Amino acid sequence: MKNIDTICVQGGYTPKNGEPRQIPIVQSTTFKYDTSEDMGKLFDLEASGYFYTRLQNPTNDYVAAKLTEMEGGTAGMLTSSGQAANFFAVFNIATSGDHVVSSANIYGGTFNLFSVTMKKMGIDFTFISPDSTEEEIEAAMRPNTKAVFGETVANPSLAVLDIELFAKVAHRHGVPLIIDNTFATPVNCRPIEWGADIVTHSTTKYIDGHGVSVGGAIIDSGKFDWMAHADKFPGLCTPDDSYHGITYATKFGKEGAFITKATAQLMRDFGAIQSPQHAFYINLGLESLHVRMARHVENGKRVAEFLKNHPLVDWVTYPDLEGDKYYDLAKKYCPNGTCGVVSFGVKGGRKGAEQFMKSLRLIAIETHVADARSCCLHPANATHRQMTDDELVAAGITPDLVRLSCGLESADDLIADLSQALDTVR
Ligand SMILES: *Cc1c(COP(=O)(O)O)cnc(C)c1O
Repeated sequence: MKNIDTICVQGGYTPKNGEPRQIPIVQSTTFKYDTSEDMGKLFDLEASGYFYTRLQNPTNDYVAAKLTEMEGGTAGMLTSSGQAANFFAVFNIATSGDHVVSSANIYGGTFNLFSVTMKKMGIDFTFISPDSTEEEIEAAMRPNTKAVFGETVANPSLAVLDIELFAKVAHRHGVPLIIDNTFATPVNCRPIEWGADIVTHSTTKYIDGHGVSVGGAIIDSGKFDWMAHADKFPGLCTPDDSYHGITYATKFGKEGAFITKATAQLMRDFGAIQSPQHAFYINLGLESLHVRMARHVENGKRVAEFLKNHPLVDWVTYPDLEGDKYYDLAKKYCPNGTCGVVSFGVKGGRKGAEQFMKSLRLIAIETHVADARSCCLHPANATHRQMTDDELVAAGITPDLVRLSCGLESADDLIADLSQALDTVR
């Protein structure tokens, strides 16, 4: 395999003689064919090709191919958002009457998708701690469980998942492990190497990296043997009447069945496609991802060290900080560092945090994370505003918690801004 740095720059698209060096933006909703027979073959999934951008577009596929190569998978697709990616990844194999085991420390939007919206669709979720022991994960599994889900480095708690352990239990029960790898990115962790079967991304975060486009991706490892557990996955292992009775797992094999089904059924019916223009922006982000991630981590470490030693900071959570609860797991799964997000508690609780936030000059208050510009959020006053202090603590978010996303500025300038803002809390 090529080095990940090279794949970031050149993966997914190899121009032939005289073709554009940069990936072309195929700004077309439709594609022309000489005969109806030619087109018919595409509709029957007998030939591969493009006919309508709601399902597939060449620009998207170049970028999906690059991400697939970066993650070490066999097939991939882009979606219009990270939300769509996680919805498709689960809904492609779980339906009404099924059950999924998920880490409880996941992105709030995903938690809502699972616990409210997908629950209404008849899919039951059991949420367990990312720190669960083998026995605790085991105890959550049911006969109708169809997948296990978690985040490599959780947003916003920064818990690092023991991917190998979760994969082991999932596989013992004949179901795939789905990992949302948004925060670590394939530059810092490749979950497939640790046993994950399906990897998802919100490309909106570090992969885009400049705060310009919302997007998502799903990558299949090609390792999960659907046919060996055919009774659990009828959608992949029995004929699909809407495509003249093809069976995805036999026609496309382990390597292609999952993504083909998600494209042919879910993209066709839900239409959560990435626009080719935005796929192009995401590719620009990917070209420098390996350079940027190193700097996000460097800034995260410098800032975390500064905060840890500051008298007006009660606590700091950053997995790459020695002594952090997740330090050992971070070293194992992300030896080059996790990400640039640091959370910490300002002395004086909710009031202290409010005063601190108000005083920041360089670091902006935003709900976003993971882009070039540093930004900061006080969840108790923003995303989790409706909760009481007691409810916040139960959700693992204390009233004093500040989430800081270290961008690509000079660490010295970030520290100077944090320092002057903390001084106002005294
Ligand atoms: C932001 C985020 C999502 C949702 O992605 P969108 O692109 O905003 O839809 C999913 N998972 C994680 C870990 C995220 O940080």
